[in-house]
Amino acid sequence: MTPNPPGVPRRPAIIGNWKLWGTRAEARPNCERLLELLPDEPRRPASVGICPPFTSLDVCVETLRGSGVAVFAQNMHQQESGAFTGEVSAAMLREIGVDGVVLGHSERREHFGETDRALQEKVPAALIAGLRPILCVGESEKEREAGATERKLRHQVQEDLERVPDERLAEVVIAYEPIWAIGTGKVATPEIAQDAIAFVRALVAGRSRDAAARMRLLYGGSVKPDNAADIIAQPDVDGALVGGASLDPDGFARIVAAAAG
Ligand code: PEP
Repeated sequence: MTPNPPGVPRRPAIIGNWKLWGTRAEARPNCERLLELLPDEPRRPASVGICPPFTSLDVCVETLRGSGVAVFAQNMHQQESGAFTGEVSAAMLREIGVDGVVLGHSERREHFGETDRALQEKVPAALIAGLRPILCVGESEKEREAGATERKLRHQVQEDLERVPDERLAEVVIAYEPIWAIGTGKVATPEIAQDAIAFVRALVAGRSRDAAARMRLLYGGSVKPDNAADIIAQPDVDGALVGGASLDPDGFARIVAAAAG
């Protein structure tokens, strides 16, 4: 494991991706329930965030204000404005108090043609606007079986971070999300998660050892309350990006508790 620079421990992060779930009417009680279940921010074992759909972002920002629970969008466009019908910019998200944005989720890459070329612009655009990017990377089942996992991760990490200056690299969070584990109930073993995430950290270290030591790297893919602790306990795994299990505040709060080790 890349050693942390002295005095720079990596606080775990547990982020819930609501995907296409959460009307405004559903989002408010869900956030309220989550706040009832979570310890207050100073006693929380991890940074916590949720990623609701665009239309519920402002409701979540308002309901969670002052709680320390961050709100992330699930996508954004790389341009500030222009003829890009249906898109939302980083500045628009900042304007309503959003803290960060998930970029390159495999569902966006697969169903909506998200490319590494676009991500090369999106990641720095998010940082410049003051949004924390969570960049998702990961291999398909076919790629893993063909022994191409590292090649895929190298390609995605190097391409997608190419335009992020070294001094801002550590502000990016990377979520390693093997596609075969997302929404399938087929969770990676703690060893698979550790190996892949250590590999990603080594790739970042190739750019900046300091950034690699500081950067938070999450695992995502069928994380549940009963498997979270073993995965998060791995030395290079700094938390989880949780999809389906984040829709239930009780289960999600148990995953946060699992970060206490
Ligand atoms: C995700 O949406 O990023 C995810 C990991 O989903 P799930 O936890 O449902 O596999």
